[in-house]
This record gives sequence, C-alpha cells and structure tokens, in this order.
Amino acid sequence: MPDQRPKTRLICPLTASDVPGMCRAADAALAAGADTIEIRLDYLTEPLDDAQLAGLIGHAAAETIVTCRPTSQGGRYDGDESARLSLLRRAAELGADWIDVELTTPPADRPKGATILSHHDFDRCPGDLDRLADELAASEAAVAKLAFAADGPEDALRALDVLRSCDKPAIALAMGEAGLPSRILAAKLAAFGTFAALDRAAGSAPGQPTLDEALNLYRWRELTPRTTVFGVIGCPVAHSMSPAVHNAAFAAAGLDAVYLPLLVQPGEDNFRRFIDALLERPWLGWRGLSVTIPHKENALATVGPGRCDELAVTIGAVNTVTIDPDGSLRGDNTDYAAAIDALCEAMGITRDGLAGRAVAVLGAGGAARALVAALAHYYADVTIYNRTVSRADRLGEEFSCAAAGRDALPGLDAEIVINCTSIGMHPNVDATPLERIPPMVRVVFDTIYNPVDTLLLRRARQAGCTCVTGVDMFVNQAIAQFEVWTDTAAPRDVMRNVVLDKLNARK
Ligand code: NAP
Repeated sequence: MPDQRPKTRLICPLTASDVPGMCRAADAALAAGADTIEIRLDYLTEPLDDAQLAGLIGHAAAETIVTCRPTSQGGRYDGDESARLSLLRRAAELGADWIDVELTTPPADRPKGATILSHHDFDRCPGDLDRLADELAASEAAVAKLAFAADGPEDALRALDVLRSCDKPAIALAMGEAGLPSRILAAKLAAFGTFAALDRAAGSAPGQPTLDEALNLYRWRELTPRTTVFGVIGCPVAHSMSPAVHNAAFAAAGLDAVYLPLLVQPGEDNFRRFIDALLERPWLGWRGLSVTIPHKENALATVGPGRCDELAVTIGAVNTVTIDPDGSLRGDNTDYAAAIDALCEAMGITRDGLAGRAVAVLGAGGAARALVAALAHYYADVTIYNRTVSRADRLGEEFSCAAAGRDALPGLDAEIVINCTSIGMHPNVDATPLERIPPMVRVVFDTIYNPVDTLLLRRARQAGCTCVTGVDMFVNQAIAQFEVWTDTAAPRDVMRNVVLDKLNARK
C-alpha cells in the first residue's frame, strides 16, 4: 500500500547577503536534496526591486517560502514595518508558494494567500506554549509555526507535542543543540517541514542540522511514523561517534530506527527529568539510550539497581538503558563486557580463562573501575597502578586487588597490561604510561581510541605482544548495545569502519 502520510518538507533557508549569492545557495540546496527553499529577505544587505524579487522567487524550480523576519522575532530586518509587509505582499503576488508572517503582525495587516503564521522565542520555551499553539492553529493561516529555545531535550519533546496535537499542518521546533530531536523527529510526526542548512555557517537558527546530516546521518527520507528512536545522553555530546555508528548500523540492518545526540546538563535531576519526559510519551517509540559522561551514575540511580545488570551495579555505572514497550527500564553496562570480550577475543580465551592471570591495570578512574570490577569478577589476579595512590588503594580495597603508585611500575610483573589512563591520548600522542614493556608481558590493551595506534601499542607490538585497541572496546560496546536493543545481529564491520573513518577524519 502506498505511504499515505503527508510529506514532511526538508526546507533549506537561504541566508546569503545578496541576490546572486541566494541564487547560488538555492541551486546548491536543491542539489543537496532540499525539497523547499526559504528565501530570507532579511539577510539581504541591499533593498531589492520587483524584478529582482521575481527573479529570486522564480530562480529555482522548487517550492519557495519567503520570509522577512524582524529583529524582534530573531531576524535581521530592522526597517519600516509597512515596507516589510508590502515586500511580503509583493512576494505573494510574484509567485512565492508560501509567505511566513509573524503572529505579532495584526491580522488585518497580514498578507493574504498561503501563509505560515509563526512565533519565535530565542530565549526560552514559552510558558504559554499551549495557548500559543492554539492561537496559531485557530488562525486563518494554512500553516502554524512555533520555534523556541530549548533548555534541555525535554523541550524538544514539547515541540513534538505541539505537532501531535495541532489539527493543521505545523512546524514546531526547539532551537539549540538540545532541541535537535524536534527537528529530526518532525518527519515521524508528519510535520509540514523542518529546516536544514547548506552548511554550519549558513544556518538561520541555532541547532539546525545540515542537509547532509539530515539526509545521510539521520536518514530523513526513511523516517516513518513507526520509526523507533534511540539516542546518546551526555554533556558534552556533540563530539560523540555513537550517532554515526548506530545510524549506519540501523541502515545496514534494514531497521526502521533512528539515533540522536541528546544534550542533558550534568545532574541527576536533569537526567531524571528527561527520562520522565520520554516515559510520559509512549507514542514516541523511544526504545533505548546510550549514556556517557557525566550521567552513568545518574542512569544507575534513575533506572534503579534492582533493574540493572549485577556487574553494572557493582561498577556503579550504567551506559545502556533499554525502554521496554510497557515503559519499564533496564540498565546495563556494555563498557565492561566490551573491554573484557575484546581482551578475551584477542587472547583466544573465554572470560573464565582470565582466572588466575596476572593483570596490571594502569589508572584508577571510571574506565579502570569497570575493568577491575570485571577482571575481579572472573578471578584475574589484578594489580592497580595509579598516579594518585590513595585512589588506587580505594579501588584495590573494594575489589580485593593489589594497588600501588606509578613509582612501582618498573617492578611490574604481569602477563596482561591494560592502560586505563589518558596518557598517550590525542593530542599528547608522544606520551606512554609505560616506558619499557617488561619481558613477561604478553598482551597489551590500551583503552585509548584516539589515536588508534598509541605509542604504548606500537612499543608492545615491537616487543612481540598481542595488542588490543580502544577501538576494539568502543566498537564492542556499541555492538552490545545494538544487540540488546534490537535482538538482531549487529553489522560489526559497518560499525567498526564508521569508527575508523570518524577517527581518521579527526586527524
Ligand atoms: P578518568 O576517570 O578521568 O580517569 C583518568 C585516569 O588517568 C586516572 O587514573 C588518572 O590518574 C590518570 N591520569 C590522567 N592523566 C594522567 C597523567 N598525566 N599522569 C598519570 N596519570 C594520569 O577517565 P576515564 O573515563 O577512566 O578514562 C580513562 C581512559 O579510558 C581515557 O583514555 C579514555 O579514552 C579511555 N576510555 C576508553 C573507552 C573505549 O570505549 N575505548 C571508554 C571509556 C574510557 P589520577 O587518579 O591520579 O588522576
């Protein structure tokens, strides 16, 4: 059966400062996959005559929206109001498909015809959001548009509420990095459209994805009302490789699913507020979350130890939350499993084969904690070496392991060395946590993934050791998440290649 849902337009705003620049941008936007172009007359630095306006509107064989946003609504036009309105009226007469006019414009002054009635708040989510949405919906305009600054991703969900309840075509967007879900999931809610810029510099509002991101990273064309949703919660989160890895995996596995970055400010309250907002909206089809710094402990507290994997509780961190269709949550820690399995795969042993093996863990932070807990669980003979000895001692006491300061490293006596410090990480790539690889060491695992080949690993390889990289660990944890959430075998090579491509691009 053909898909009956209304098409949600991918709208590219044109923000060049002159008419030739606008025409070039329109051509580039259509070539990049935009459905509709928004001509932002307020970005032009010189007034334009009717012939230029007609040329601009007719330039691209595509649907056009003409907007001349005043500064009071976050635009750049600060001239005479009657001249602005007469320009919009002329645009309608000259063939623009849609005219965007602000709710603040008195009804009698609004251009007639196909109008998008809009309201913008660049400071906050309006306290009277529902009333504003009702007013826009009840107006004579064909399309209602609301855009407001997001404080957290729960504000993006409020924008989706507006789309869901509005009984006319609508655009509802939460601006800023935290608002991204409202822009991407607009397609799932059959919005009139969403905005995507030609490139970062050409955006007309904070948080707009680029056309390339919308189409190729988030697979805009494939989103449907049934698309299931996943994401990564972190702060910061923009650098995360997880959206690229998981979206590529969904595409390769042919799954109707999308994965989004979610900027949640530090603090258990902020984490909990977002989870509650998700659970209040089962219609979103949100099924899982990756959790990264600084929220792994908050995830454990929010999900509750009783609903988390036993070792995740021991480690004190949850990096994977699964949301069952009945709204119940489950917490896992795929970091430790990923690290242990990467190690065991390289050594050709099972997890039980770790029992009794001497392992030196360098570092006593979050990564070391996950590794030490798992190694102790499988009865490895662990010694922790850390710069801050008291931290090593505390971790050692908790998991019944030996602990020492870094000054004891020359006496290191272990078969396996695992670096869980950030020594050697980009940009300090000439540093190594271990100056000399002692002869009894047979396996070296560096949890650092940027660079892939650290100085420690290069030296270990020269010494004839088996090497395990941080990429092996990172890819394994993403694979484990994918399989927990989807019950489908993960496309491992696709996921690994995305990570390697991303890391190469960062060099
Ligand atoms: P963390 O909690 O901040 O711990 C950092 C550790 O590094 C501490 O033990 C710290 O010692 C030590 N350290 C930092 N700078 C040092 C220096 N100049 N000299 C000596 N020791 C130093 O960080 P984390 O989250 O555990 O991350 C640690 C490493 O694991 C990072 O390189 C990260 O990339 C890696 N990691 C990889 C993955 C993956 O998927 N591959 C996942 C998570 C983490 P003090 O206690 O003395 O400060």
